[in-house]
Amino acid sequence: MSNFEGIVPALAEALEKRGYVELTPVQKAVLELGEADALVSAQTGSGKTVAFGLALAPTLLGGAERFGPAGVPLALAVAPTRELALQVTRELQWLYAPTGATVASCVGGMDMRSERRVLERGAHIVVGTPGRLRDHITRNSLDMSALKAVVLDEADEMLDLGFREDLEFILDAAPAQRRTLMFSATVPRSIATLAQGYQRDAVRISAGGEEKQHLDIEYRALNVAYPDRENAIINVLRFYEAKNALVFCNTRAAVNHLTARFNNRNFSVVALSGELSQNERSHALQAMRDGRAKVCIATDVAARGIDLPNLELVIHADLPTNPETLLHRSGRTGRAGRKGVSALIVPNGARKRTERLLQNAGLKATWASPPSADDVIKRDDERILADPAFDEPVADDERGFIDALLAKHGAEQVAAAFVRQCRASRSAPEDLMDVAPFTPSREKPAGEKFERRDEAPSRRDDFGDSVWFSLSIGRRQNAEPRWLIPMLCRTGNISKREIGAIKMQQEETFVQIAADWADRFLAAIGPDKKLQGNIVVKRLDGTPDLSRAGYQAPKPDKKPHRGKRPFEAPQTAHKPKFEKRERPAGDAKPWAGKPKFDKAGPPKNKKPKKRPG
Ligand code: ADP
Ligand code: MG
Repeated sequence: MSNFEGIVPALAEALEKRGYVELTPVQKAVLELGEADALVSAQTGSGKTVAFGLALAPTLLGGAERFGPAGVPLALAVAPTRELALQVTRELQWLYAPTGATVASCVGGMDMRSERRVLERGAHIVVGTPGRLRDHITRNSLDMSALKAVVLDEADEMLDLGFREDLEFILDAAPAQRRTLMFSATVPRSIATLAQGYQRDAVRISAGGEEKQHLDIEYRALNVAYPDRENAIINVLRFYEAKNALVFCNTRAAVNHLTARFNNRNFSVVALSGELSQNERSHALQAMRDGRAKVCIATDVAARGIDLPNLELVIHADLPTNPETLLHRSGRTGRAGRKGVSALIVPNGARKRTERLLQNAGLKATWASPPSADDVIKRDDERILADPAFDEPVADDERGFIDALLAKHGAEQVAAAFVRQCRASRSAPEDLMDVAPFTPSREKPAGEKFERRDEAPSRRDDFGDSVWFSLSIGRRQNAEPRWLIPMLCRTGNISKREIGAIKMQQEETFVQIAADWADRFLAAIGPDKKLQGNIVVKRLDGTPDLSRAGYQAPKPDKKPHRGKRPFEAPQTAHKPKFEKRERPAGDAKPWAGKPKFDKAGPPKNKKPKKRPG
């Protein structure tokens, strides 16, 4: 009881019932507020929901132990997403249960009329999303006249999601004498401005300094070959066997794709994306909470602010586009002092970008390879050995059959059958390709400023056994070795050293690849044999034959890129020039020697941008 000193007894009772032993720092801090406005920042997972629940109590109860009958709402809490609003509703319901409070929710995607009926019956506290609350206010179904307090929860996320106008509308509709509490993980200028406009003498509380942010989260950056991204996720999921894991994708299409793939692989998965109905989303989250599902695949918007108490693992299937998203995603785990892992899947070539992302987020990550198939199996074995099932003594009613089993098959066979069964019940880990040790975009050893030239043969004369490939782009599409090579390395999981000569034609490019690496190159680019932007790759038998008069490279099946890409020549302007420069028959030399690039080839007027990884 002493840990909850200074709290309204009814709420202290609820906290105890819930099994809380101590308040988090931000919760302790709000107890000092009395009736003051406040702008509170604390890292994700620090318990801000209960904090504002506690902060509201003096204003709403005014010294009483219980609420009177519900009528016009006394407090309004605004949260960025439906899930979050429902989560807040649930938290306030248990926290305020002993006070007899009615907590109602108004969230987008639910039936407006049934919400209206609930409001008509009366509520002490209303929780909702900005758009829906605004609708209710506009239609006069939400009476704001008796509000004593308004809370903006996850204020930074609400502004990120573009709710500024709705929030201002809501705040303007509330009585001037109300209390305004703002809770946020971060306080960017936009929040400070909003606070200035709508709060009076607000107390600024900042609990859990920025530098302490995400201390309970272990960041791992996992370097993978581009085509191995999904296999790497499978191994990470298998390695950690988290009670709950959240996999982030950048698009709904990617969510659908991964959900289907993992379902087929025997993972218990649910999807969370904006295209699902509210009902489907609630079901998905409930499945995660009660253990029917272990893996949730989600887009950023769908997963904002979600609190899954057993979330031990966050995987960034697609790299987040900015540091804030990285922090928000990762903050779903490592909550309230629990440990979590946040794993970034970093394909070849995205390392620099990832390093920048981590640095801008102020995070340190361990760079590593994803768990290999062997690592996963080893971990499985450790789990089997440590299984608490082995601690339970044999029960009397089991003994007879156990003896019979041992007599018939012997201990070794019984153990073998048991182990096989354990393994069969789990999805097999994937064999991952080794990531080539060095490519231009990869890390240079400390202190090394420049590429290690000595490792790459400077001349291609003695390139050795090789296989030729044809790519379905050429000069006409403004192909250039300076971006073709990094793309081949990245997508084909090879390094510069394995690339020999590059011979560019009008509509086709021939690339020589070291024989030992040819199969692996093909495997890496995947069964559709396409590089980035629909560039079709074909393996040639022998050397490309360019001695035929009037050689015409086969037309690509498809135009390599839609839209403006750096290498797309402005066709009208350059076509005549190219046609005049058609290589005469017999000009082609045998394909030895340094690659020779037609000096007048690709037009120089369009500088290729650095291509996205
Ligand atoms: P935030 O809004 O700061 O990101 P939440 O309010 O969602 O964090 O709380 C994170 C988790 O911590 C929730 O599961 C919540 O139930 C739990 N929690 C909050 N306060 C306490 C406490 N005093 N003791 C133990 N767990 C707590
Ligand atoms: Mg919160």
